[in-house]
Amino acid sequence: MTTAQNLPVVVIGAGPVGLAAAAHLAERGLEPLVIEAGDGAGAAVAQWGHVRLFSPWRYDVDAAARRLLTSAGAGRTEPWSDPEPDTLPTGTELVEQYLVPLADALVNGAGAQIRYRTRVLAVTKDGADRSRSLGRERLPYLVRLATGPADGSGGTGTVEEIRAQAVIDASGTYGRPNPLGTSGLPTLGEPESARFLAGALPDVLGRDRDRFAGRHTLVVGMGHSAANTLLSLVELAEQEAAQGAPVSRITWAIRGGSPRRLYGGGTGDDLPARGLLGTRLRDAVEAGRIELLTRVAIDRLEPSTDPAGDTVRVLGSARRDGDDGALDLTVHHIAAATGFRPDLAMLREVRLDLDPVVEAPRRIAPLIDPNLHSCGTVPAHGEAELTHPDAGFYLVGMKSYGRAPTFLLATGYEQVRSIAAALAGDRAAADAVELNLPETGVCSSDLALAADADGRVSPDELAASGAGSCCAVPAAPQQVSIGAPPARANPLGGAPADAASAASAASAASAGPVGFSTGVMHGRSGD
Ligand SMILES: Cc1cc2nc3c(=O)[nH]c(=O)nc-3n(C[C@H](O)[C@H](O)[C@H](O)COP(=O)(O)OP(=O)(O)OC[C@H]3O[C@@H](n4cnc5c(N)ncnc54)[C@H](O)[C@@H]3O)c2cc1C
Repeated sequence: MTTAQNLPVVVIGAGPVGLAAAAHLAERGLEPLVIEAGDGAGAAVAQWGHVRLFSPWRYDVDAAARRLLTSAGAGRTEPWSDPEPDTLPTGTELVEQYLVPLADALVNGAGAQIRYRTRVLAVTKDGADRSRSLGRERLPYLVRLATGPADGSGGTGTVEEIRAQAVIDASGTYGRPNPLGTSGLPTLGEPESARFLAGALPDVLGRDRDRFAGRHTLVVGMGHSAANTLLSLVELAEQEAAQGAPVSRITWAIRGGSPRRLYGGGTGDDLPARGLLGTRLRDAVEAGRIELLTRVAIDRLEPSTDPAGDTVRVLGSARRDGDDGALDLTVHHIAAATGFRPDLAMLREVRLDLDPVVEAPRRIAPLIDPNLHSCGTVPAHGEAELTHPDAGFYLVGMKSYGRAPTFLLATGYEQVRSIAAALAGDRAAADAVELNLPETGVCSSDLALAADADGRVSPDELAASGAGSCCAVPAAPQQVSIGAPPARANPLGGAPADAASAASAASAASAGPVGFSTGVMHGRSGD
């Protein structure tokens, strides 16, 4: 049996947070081994590459990643140019201008390993299942991998196991959309109708245009993902009408009685861009370009039995013109924008401490639970809040928010900075949690729509977006530290932090929740 010493720290996922984790680990002299299911860095982000982020570049680049990318020894043939800080990148730009160069620099300049087209199937303790306690804390982790295509089909049959001193799970949730059923289960017929399900954010005006042109699409959900897909479909229909082509049909299904929450406050909205998004959506509904169905419950999907058939029947109940009745709709595609959930099956043998509601680490769950926060506050948090009964295992990034819909990159970067410090034995740095906040908070998620063609947002828009809203944040980025908890051990049992750094952390600590809103960004199950 192996001991944990000298083993790599396995990072699951080469998304923005997984790669940032690798940069912090490498900086601390630890050996990161990143396992990525997709073909390259940022594989999940690439799937929504056509969407413009709402956070400008200054909040999208991790500090350790920037240090590595700009260092002379990053092993890069061309120098990396730091993107213009006030520009909003698209997902594709985030991948091409940041994540791909970062992955290169990690491998060629920082001694990290990254394995692509390799999926983590399971994590456990080497030699102990979940129920065995004796000596458990001394055992390394065992990670089971499958190499092969990135479609999750289990690969080519090559399964292997590696050992790790610690595991940082940054595998996101994008690959696990919530099902259509309002009770959290796939609705009857949903698995058989997979070919009609287009995901939350299809690239309607680009890559997927032919699929949607002249067709009838049902969009399900009440978050900004649904709104973006609806507005893209409206634009497609307008282009079709102008060209005299058959015009696509759009139906929008929501579970609640009114879409008012998504429409926002129009011209009176605290966030001008949000008002713009909502107004455009409301106008399209009122003009009849989108048919809105409220109080929708989908009970069953019936894909056409003809293998060449191109429609699916959607059955259930809905309210139309004020009357509740049966829903019986035949459409070509369904864009289900009902949020995401974490894959916990692969962690079945790890002792986790998760909140029963949002499936996030228990200590951060009350801060992000959408039942409690429509526009709440989330203090910076780090290793101390992200620990589990099995020391040295962490959920970070999008996955650390479980089913809560409003994760921000800046939060994830601070999570992994703190974890790398803890794994390196620097307890004081791990506990001195700081967060450089975007000026706009998450409520600015519609700023992307107000940006100019290059994605640039004016300082006025940035300022206006936070002012007076329920998630208003200070005009300038703030460094926020929350109190360092009582002295804690190195999670790997290494050297404790030295007294000097402990003192500096204590003096840096000052409590203060800050204004991140939570709520509807990606939609929620059953919406
Ligand atoms: C449309 C959209 C817009 C967003 N805009 C913003 C924004 O403007 N600002 C902001 O701060 N946040 C934004 N977010 C939220 C969040 O920051 C992003 O989702 C971000 O990509 C999360 O990074 P991550 O590294 O945690 O996960 P991901 O980017 O999802 O990366 C996870 C990686 O893990 C891989 N993976 C998954 N399972 C496995 C496995 N079993 N084995 C190996 N690899 C695996 C995936 O292929 C993927 O590459 C947005 C999210 C979405 C969906």
